[in-house]
Amino acid sequence: MNEALTGSCLCGSVRFEVTEPFDRVTQCHCTSCKKLSGGVGTSNGRARTESIRIVSGRDVIRTYQPSEGSAKTFCSECGSNLFGGGWPESEHTSVRLSTLDAPFEERPAAHLYVRSVAPWETLPDDGAERFDALST
Ligand SMILES: [Zn+2]
Ligand SMILES: [Zn+2]
Repeated sequence: MNEALTGSCLCGSVRFEVTEPFDRVTQCHCTSCKKLSGGVGTSNGRARTESIRIVSGRDVIRTYQPSEGSAKTFCSECGSNLFGGGWPESEHTSVRLSTLDAPFEERPAAHLYVRSVAPWETLPDDGAERFDALST
């Protein structure tokens, strides 16, 4: 799989490419990811930050730095959650799988922050590793 993945936000203002395969795919159930996603959390592919190329919409991209944890990046037009993990300064970025334009077949290898699974959320019995917080 050497072709670049392409991603976009809901309104289409932001378009980007990821030029290298993800080195890890995980699902995060932490309370921050719930707040910002509007759902059970975020599903992420980990990429080297320098492998992400913004194709359009750089001017509407906003990054929020919470008091705890890494910066989160979103489209200021439509609110779509784009990246986590501290883009663009960090060495690695968590690319939200929900942004990807083509169907992405890889399944999460791990569930993170399982201690924060909500009563209204069902953790799938998918055989993926589970971690109370971050994986080691
Ligand atoms: Zn947008
Ligand atoms: Zn999280």
